[in-house]
Amino acid sequence: MADSSYRDLGQKNSTLTRVVSRQQLPRLAEVCGLEDDVDVEASFRIDDRGRVNVSVRLDGTVSLDCYRCNETVVQRLQMAFDAVVAFDETRASEWAAWSAANDIELEHIIVASSQTLDVAELIEDELMLGLPLQVLCEEGCTTGRGAHAEDGHVRAASTDRQMPFEGLRELIAERAITNSDATSNRDKGGS
Ligand SMILES: [Zn+2]
Repeated sequence: MADSSYRDLGQKNSTLTRVVSRQQLPRLAEVCGLEDDVDVEASFRIDDRGRVNVSVRLDGTVSLDCYRCNETVVQRLQMAFDAVVAFDETRASEWAAWSAANDIELEHIIVASSQTLDVAELIEDELMLGLPLQVLCEEGCTTGRGAHAEDGHVRAASTDRQMPFEGLRELIAERAITNSDATSNRDKGGS
């Protein structure tokens, strides 16, 4: 099938169904398991400001680790969202600024890397944002193989299954401390 451009699809008010495989979602595959392909339905139109709008429904199944005991939790993700498609960051910021200036709720803007439809690109960010931050294998799971202590200590073992964001969170916390030190030092120097 020939590649379609977003604008063509919008002008034709097209609705497409696609199956997106795990290989097409490399960033998502880094943070969770994908049990199966993701089913996507996307409807395009041109809005009254001449922009490409898309309504997306998607249905996929991911697997995550229970944050207490590391047991694999399979979870179905069904999501629907509307977005405006921009083709460069500048345009996207103009639209965001316009919404802010007109007191309109900020739209979901997807910055596409080309004029040609890329369904994986349309859905990957949204899927990642839709992932639950913490899942439990069952309500009130406390099985923890010494997993997370109450004082917030992160387990040292099993680095192979560690969530990539844990390190990031610590880094941000450390940086915040460093910054506040710097500020108080500067205050002292100034007085
Ligand atoms: Zn558990």
